[in-house]
Amino acid sequence: MRFDTVIRNATVVTATDSYRADVGVGGDRVSAIAAQLPADDAGRIIDATGLLLIPGGIDVHTHLDMPFGGTTSADDFETGTIAAAFGGTTTLIDFAIQYKGQSLRQAFDTWMKKAHDKAVTDYAFHCIITDLGSAQLEEMGQLIRDGVTSFKLFMAYPGVFMVDDQTIFRALKRTGTNGGLVCMHAENGGVIDELVKEALRRGDTAPKYHALTRPPRAEGEATGRAIALAELAGVPIYIVHLSAAHALEKVREARDMGLPAYAETCPQYLFLSYDNYEEPGFDGAKYVMSPPLREKWHQDVLWKGLAKNDLQVISTDHCPFCMAEQKELGKGDFSKIPNGAPGIETRLTLVHDGGVRPGRISMTRFVELCSTTPAKMFGLFPRKGTIAVGSDADIVVFDPEKSATLGVKTLHMKVDYNPYEGRSVKGSPAVVISGGQVIIDGDRFVGKKGSGRFLSRGPSQAPSGL
Ligand SMILES: [Zn+2]
Repeated sequence: MRFDTVIRNATVVTATDSYRADVGVGGDRVSAIAAQLPADDAGRIIDATGLLLIPGGIDVHTHLDMPFGGTTSADDFETGTIAAAFGGTTTLIDFAIQYKGQSLRQAFDTWMKKAHDKAVTDYAFHCIITDLGSAQLEEMGQLIRDGVTSFKLFMAYPGVFMVDDQTIFRALKRTGTNGGLVCMHAENGGVIDELVKEALRRGDTAPKYHALTRPPRAEGEATGRAIALAELAGVPIYIVHLSAAHALEKVREARDMGLPAYAETCPQYLFLSYDNYEEPGFDGAKYVMSPPLREKWHQDVLWKGLAKNDLQVISTDHCPFCMAEQKELGKGDFSKIPNGAPGIETRLTLVHDGGVRPGRISMTRFVELCSTTPAKMFGLFPRKGTIAVGSDADIVVFDPEKSATLGVKTLHMKVDYNPYEGRSVKGSPAVVISGGQVIIDGDRFVGKKGSGRFLSRGPSQAPSGL
């Protein structure tokens, strides 16, 4: 048997096991795993002695090249996927947005065009629905056949993305017959809108009021309501970017009752807090995102949720806006600061450094949260999300001892600040393989623009007991 690449002496880590092996890659797939593989005529040999082999990270929540608040997120599908690759993420699921009056197909076509010639890693899409008439309700089924098997709805951003409970219920009910999965942005948009108006009337315009007008209770309420609507419709539900203990409590309650409720959180909610909004001048704008950063005590609750499987996925909600010209739009009015922050490149290293190293989660749980469950939740497993014979050769050679200092100078996201500037972390990718090709070799990107493939996803594999 001849291999294009043989990775030798590695410790392979999956969601369930950790063992010493050689891994052989043929074409774009893993073709053999054994104690020892013949490597004499292999195209390339990678010695991974002392290093870990983990399945490529899967980030199921990114916003590349996304118009928002009068500007566009700073990373496109080229710079965003290159940054993702540097961070060990080889698959992402971005959001195609249907604007009012459009068909779902228009959203899908628009985002395919954005990604097609640019992405360097594989990618897929969820579809954001903002307008659900009977035509679009029918269209959901067609989109699922095209591989877009999940739909995101918003309970926040009135007048932009928000839909009412009736619309949410219709969409949920429809997934019961068409096999889709609804992802929910759960914050009470009506309450928040009122609090924002009150704050602005008082003259409270600084960035921190973004957080103070989006209280955790508003997230808890919406999360509970979303789960109740899904229960009424008899279908699973997936809560995106869960940030608050109040919301986690609702998910935990539902799961204890045996309901198929799932949720992701993001590194920013594990490592940053409300205190960041108190940074001097306009710097608090760096952290303006929705939901906002919470008081520090929520972090421990979220870590516990991750360890106990009340939270199943870690994604990034990567949505970068530069301070210059973009975040600045909200100087003098926090409600005009574009919502979002960069994170696509720092997920694995932060969660490893702050989660695995201090023993909050195990290395296998790390793989499960960052790759395996994302693949299962969104219909990509076992092609993605594990290292196994026949799976895509998306492999990260991870050096658990490699130190790095996070910051705009060392990272590759196309944005003029980093929320973790100056933070030292241990554990980084050394080599990243995507579809059998080395695309990151040490500090160098060696992949090719446009080499990423669109992934037509199957139905969620979550109901089978995650
Ligand atoms: Zn988002």
